[in-house]
Amino acid sequence: MHASVAYLDYNATAPVRPGVGAAMAEALAMGGNPSSVHRFGRLARAAVDRARDSVAGWMRVDPAQITFTSGATEANALAVHTLVALGAKALLVSAIEHDSVRASAAAAGLPVNEIPVTAAGVLDLAALQGMLAGPGPVGVAVMFANNETGVIQPVAKAAKLVHAAGGWLLCDAVQGAGRVTARGGLFGADLVTVSAHKLGGPQGVGALIAAPQIRVAPMVRGGGQESGLRGGTENVPGIAGFGAAVERERGERARVHALRNLFETRLRAMSPEVQVFGAGAARMSNTVCFALPGMAAEIAVIALDLAGVAVSSGSACSSGKVGHSHVLKAMGVPDALAACALRVSFGWASSRADVDRFVAAWMDLVVRARRAERAPLALAM
Ligand code: PMP
Repeated sequence: MHASVAYLDYNATAPVRPGVGAAMAEALAMGGNPSSVHRFGRLARAAVDRARDSVAGWMRVDPAQITFTSGATEANALAVHTLVALGAKALLVSAIEHDSVRASAAAAGLPVNEIPVTAAGVLDLAALQGMLAGPGPVGVAVMFANNETGVIQPVAKAAKLVHAAGGWLLCDAVQGAGRVTARGGLFGADLVTVSAHKLGGPQGVGALIAAPQIRVAPMVRGGGQESGLRGGTENVPGIAGFGAAVERERGERARVHALRNLFETRLRAMSPEVQVFGAGAARMSNTVCFALPGMAAEIAVIALDLAGVAVSSGSACSSGKVGHSHVLKAMGVPDALAACALRVSFGWASSRADVDRFVAAWMDLVVRARRAERAPLALAM
C-alpha cells in the first residue's frame, strides 16, 4: 500500500504482510506439481503441507481437517453443499450472513429461513431456538463476526442449540478468525470457513475446516487433491502465502483496539450526530460502521479517497454493488440512514497517522457539507 494513503479497509482486504510475497515467489519459482513423484513435486507438496500445518496450528485443529479452496466464497459453497449431503431438511441462515452463504443456501434446493438479529446486530438466539423446533435436522449458518458492523455473534451458544436439535452449524469465520481471539478454534461449529486475504495473505485462497466427525461432500471432483474433497492442482503459491501470513500474525489486537477507540472518540467529537451501528454489542476490535445523517456514503467515499483515505460504504466486498446493506436492514436501520453508512476497518499495519489523516479529511468534508447546507449554491460556485 502507498505510504501516503490511509488504508482503512481491512475488512475488504488486508495488505499482505511482509514476507508473504517472498514466500509466494519462492513457491512459484519452485515449480512442480504437488502430485508429481519427482523432487520438484515433492518440494511443492512440502510447501503445501507446511502451509496446512501452519493454518492448522493457527486454528488449533488437525491438518487433516483443512480443505484448501479458492477463497471463502468457495469454502462457504462447499460447506452448504456438505450440510445438504449430511441430510439437512432445511437451512436456517442468519439475516446478516455474507452473500456467499446466502446465495449458496438459496441455490441448495431446500427451504431456507432467515434467523433475525437484534437492533444491535446480534443473532436472536430465542428466535433460533423457536425455529429449530420444526421437523427434521437442519443446517444452520451463523457467522463469527459480521463484515460490515464487526458485531461478534454468539456462535458457541448457537452451536449448542443446533446440536441439541440434531442439526449442524456452519460458521463463516472470515472476519473473526485471528481478530477476536488469539487463535481460531471451531467455536463449537461443525464447519468453519476462513480466507487468507483478510489476514494479510493473498487473495484467491481460503479453507474449509471440518470438525472431525463431519464428512465434507466434494463439489469439484478430479485428481484426488485435498484428499478427494476438492479436485484441481493446488494453488501452491497462494497456499504457501496463506501459511506465511498466519505464521507472521503477531498479537496486534490490543494496538488495533486502541486505534479504533481513538478513532471513534475523535469521530464523535467532530460530528456528535454520528451513529455507530452495533455500538451496543461486542464488536471486533478493528471495525467501525457509522453514519452521519445527510452525508451520502457514496459521495463521502469518493471525497475521502481524493483526500488519500480509503474506506468502504456499507458492505463493499464487491465494488459497484447497488442497493442497501441487508445487514443494516436486518438491524432495522432505515434506508435513508443506511445510505450514509461508512465502514472503517483497521489491521496489522494501521497507525495513528492513519487516524489523523482520516480526521483531517473528515473534518474538511463535514465543514463543507455544513456550509453547503447553509448556502446550497456554495458548492456549485
Ligand atoms: N465471508 C465474509 C464474512 C467475508 O467478509 C468475505 C469477503 N468479503 C467472504 C466470506 C468471501 O471471501 P473470499 O473473498 O475469500 O471469497
